[in-house]
Amino acid sequence: MTTIILKPHKEESLKRFHPWVFSGAIARVVLDASHKAAEPEEGEIVCVQSSSNEVLGVGHWQIGSIAVRILEFGVSELPADYWAQRIRAAYRVRETLGLIRPDNNTFRLIHGEGDFVPGLIIDVYADTAVIQAHSVGIHCCRAEIAKAVAKEVPQVKNVYYKSDDTLPFKAAIEGEKVGYIIMANGERANGEGDEFWSKENGLAFRIDWLRGQKTGFFIDQRENRALVERYAAGKDVLNMFCYTGGFSLYALRGGAKSVDSVDVSQKAIDLVNANVEHNFPKAKNHTAVTADAFDYLSEQRAAGRQFDLIILDPPAFAKHRDAIKNALRGYQRINAKAIEMIRPGGILFTFSCSQAVDKEAFRLAVFSAAAQVGRKVRILHQLHQPQDHPINIYHPEGEYLKGLVVYVE
Ligand code: SAH
Repeated sequence: MTTIILKPHKEESLKRFHPWVFSGAIARVVLDASHKAAEPEEGEIVCVQSSSNEVLGVGHWQIGSIAVRILEFGVSELPADYWAQRIRAAYRVRETLGLIRPDNNTFRLIHGEGDFVPGLIIDVYADTAVIQAHSVGIHCCRAEIAKAVAKEVPQVKNVYYKSDDTLPFKAAIEGEKVGYIIMANGERANGEGDEFWSKENGLAFRIDWLRGQKTGFFIDQRENRALVERYAAGKDVLNMFCYTGGFSLYALRGGAKSVDSVDVSQKAIDLVNANVEHNFPKAKNHTAVTADAFDYLSEQRAAGRQFDLIILDPPAFAKHRDAIKNALRGYQRINAKAIEMIRPGGILFTFSCSQAVDKEAFRLAVFSAAAQVGRKVRILHQLHQPQDHPINIYHPEGEYLKGLVVYVE
């Protein structure tokens, strides 16, 4: 195996279980005999040692400023059943959290560094697990991971791999980036003829991992959707950036007077309609609209519409640190538009899933929005990502979702 020797003192963060080795921390790379090139291959498993040759751990080599992502600390090789061990441990946590129930078979099984597996996301939808790789190393291990998931998670019969948008853009990658790795039901190869229904807190969602966004669904809003249900009774609700209607279904179950769902994607709106029809076949108080959020809010405001409860869950406005300023402006603008349309005594649920925008910056954007439109606003809840998206305490970069629930006078 290739060995990576660090510069003096650069072992300290690894000893505190931070899982990344930056390229600047490396003194030397000792290649094993199998190498023809002068560098390790991207995705290769390497052993990391301190300047005094103390073994620090084993991880995946990658090209870029993060050179190694550690899979296991304090060992010089991975145990033979490494993937099964990790998946079993993660599954046990979800069981402890009470997320595996007949009325809830939708959960995140592996949340990257938060489950001590850098670069790996696994979401479970009823009998199907969707694997997403964020590193070439994980891509290379996809077959072993799929096998371990099918073996360790009782409900899983199919494993779909979906990494076309998440693997490093420039990497030389062998093998398919999308497709079923394990399939119990032959029909699913086409993505046709099957009803992919999965349950979250007793509500059924049609999940389209083949054509949908991310792994097919935003599991990370589960707890926040349940909070909307608590406040929805008798209210006119507007769910902006609704995707497949997660918040809308909870609002309907909570007894909302009306629910309007808005998204720019027609495919998402088709799924919202299918989801509402399936769960509330008699509902006459739901409307789904395909529109740009900024345009929609301006038009509705011009028409004098108002709501009692608005949900704003936009996509990440800042994908990188250098986009933070524009992102904050975007958050301020959309929040100002929403706050303006809330009836006195109404509630706004507002979110940011940009990792680069921290809690304080986001709160400042919402503050600026409230001040801009001259409404008195109080914070009722401060929200975050749920328990199946844990934050590794040694890797605070894993915190990304934040939300505020505010009461608008
Ligand atoms: N709240 C959703 C997840 C939202 S993800 C849930 O609970 O599942 C963000 C959504 O914003 C995506 O569905 C995307 O299609 C939509 N979107 C992106 N830009 C948009 C825009 N300018 N106007 C309206 N919707 C937009």
